[in-house]
Order: sequence, then structure tokens, then C-alpha cells
Amino acid sequence: MTRPLEGKLGIVTGASRGIGAAIAENLASKGCNLVINYTSSSSADLAASVAEQLSKTYGVRAVPVRADVGTPAGAAALIAGAQQHFPPPSEGARFQIDIIVNNAGIARNALLPQVTVEDFEETYRVNVLGPLLVVQAAQPHLPRDRSGRIVNLSSVSSSTGFVTQSVYGGTKAALEAMTRTWARELAENATVNAVNPGPVEGPMYAANTPEFLDGIRGWILHTPLMKAREGVDPDDVVRDANETGGRPAYTKEVAGIVGMLCGEDAGWCTGQVVCANGGMLMH
Ligand code: NDP
Repeated sequence: MTRPLEGKLGIVTGASRGIGAAIAENLASKGCNLVINYTSSSSADLAASVAEQLSKTYGVRAVPVRADVGTPAGAAALIAGAQQHFPPPSEGARFQIDIIVNNAGIARNALLPQVTVEDFEETYRVNVLGPLLVVQAAQPHLPRDRSGRIVNLSSVSSSTGFVTQSVYGGTKAALEAMTRTWARELAENATVNAVNPGPVEGPMYAANTPEFLDGIRGWILHTPLMKAREGVDPDDVVRDANETGGRPAYTKEVAGIVGMLCGEDAGWCTGQVVCANGGMLMH
């Protein structure tokens, strides 16, 4: 049976670890060839092993490309790297990027008096300018038949007003606004949607202070799918959930929503912020 994304080319930014690596795996399992982007030299081995493991397990071509998406040169290098690794199949054919997942992102929590201009600029550079530069550089190479798929990783923080996230939440609100504009500007090329995870397992969530977790406890308690289940969730997850009020998402649960939006069946959905938070936000 042909897999749904067989032969397509996808770029996942920030795919060396965390949610990005899980998204790459979801797409690879459906037959998608992949550019595994990352930025730190210390993540080179990690990104190479993600690419190698996906290639081996799913029989796709996956290659790591190091580039800082938050600079024009980095975004250009990412697209050039994709083109170099995945040249058009025949002479005269176009180089095409079918799927872009703007996943790379950073979070620096601070109360208003502690917010620095440096943190503001760096967070907006990576989380807002980054996706814009990537989509801008990729635009000439998008499909011309509406079959393309762009998914942006937002966060519930764009809408919840979590304490200490004036900067991070602002970047994600900006990303959602760009999602709607791109849905119109790129209508003949690709659908453009965002997903908005709440807490997700991994270092970003683990870095949250007890005060932050205490502050969002009410939100967690009101999230239907965050209730941990004994005998279903691992024991340590159930134990932690007893303290915080609920469990974070597994990365593959967020990846599943992204993968769904990348499929052919999602072709009539564009300009949306799609729930990837277990029901923390309901519209
Ligand atoms: P991680 O911190 O685990 O991974 C971040 C990834 O982004 C890494 O691959 C990192 O590369 C890459 N990256 C960072 N800066 C750049 C850059 N300038 N250029 C290219 N790549 C870069 O993040 P998560 O998996 O936790 O989060 C992924 C996305 O999901 C983010 O956009 C985040 O805001 C969003 N999100 C996360 C939530 C959570 O609880 N974790 C909740 C809601 C949203 P390297 O390894 O080289 O550093």
C-alpha cells in the first residue's frame, strides 16, 4: 500500500529533539523525505542520529541541515541545503518543498520587571522572524496546486496570559496572526495552519519553575485529557501528575495533530489554530 506522504519533501525546523523530532518521525512513517533542521553545533550528532534512524526505520531519505532560521542567511541556507540534498527528479523538473513545519522555538520566562530587551529580541527573532524567513525563502519552491502544507507551532500561551510569558506568549500570538495572512497569500500553494500545544514532555516543560507550574495548575485541572491514567501512563508520569494536577502531552500526541494537518484530507482546512493541547483551550 502506498503511504500517504510517499515521495514528498518536508522540512521540519528544530527537529534534533523534542516535538520537532516526533513530528519528523510522524511524517517519515507516512513516507515523507525530510530535512532535519537544527542550529547548535552541540546538536549535530543528535540531528544526524534522528535522520539516520528515520531513514533506516521508514526507508525515507532524511538529512540533517544546520541553520539558524532566525537570520536571512540561515533561512536561505536551509532552503539551499534542501535543494542540494533533494534535487529535482529529472531535468526541467522543479525543485519542490511540499511540507514545512515551523517548529523551532525558544522560551524565556520572566516577570515584567525582569524582561530584557535582549530576551525580547532573541525570542521574537527565533519564534516570529524565523518562520517568516523560512516561508519567504521557500515560497518560490512551494507546490502550485494547493497541495502544500505549512504548519506553525504556536502555544496555548498566545491566548492564556500565563504569568511570566509576556514575551513568549506575544511571539506565539504573532505567529498565529502570520498564519492567517499566509493562508490567504499562499492559497494557491499550500494550506497554512498553526497548532497550539499546552504543556509537553521535554526540557522546555521541565525547565518550568514550581511557581510557574503552580500558576497554571488551574488550567491543567480543567484540561480533560491531561488527567493521568494509572496502568496506561508510566508510573513516574502518574506520580508527577498528582503533584502538578495533570500530565503533559507526549511529543507524539502533538506530532499526530501536525501529521494530520499535513495529509491530503486536511486540504479544506486553512488559516486555523488547531487544538493540540488536550482541551486546555476550547473555542
Ligand atoms: P526544544 O527546546 O526541545 O527543541 C527546540 C528545537 O528548536 C531544537 O531542535 C533546537 O535546535 C531548535 N532551534 C532553536 N532555535 C533555533 C534556531 N534559531 N534555528 C533553528 N533551530 C532552532 O523545544 P520543544 O520541542 O519543547 O518545542 C518545539 C516547539 O513547540 C517550539 O516552537 C515551542 O515554542 C512549541 N511549544 C512547546 C511546548 C512545550 O511545553 N515544550 C508547549 C507549547 C509550544 P538545537 O538542538 O540545535 O538547539
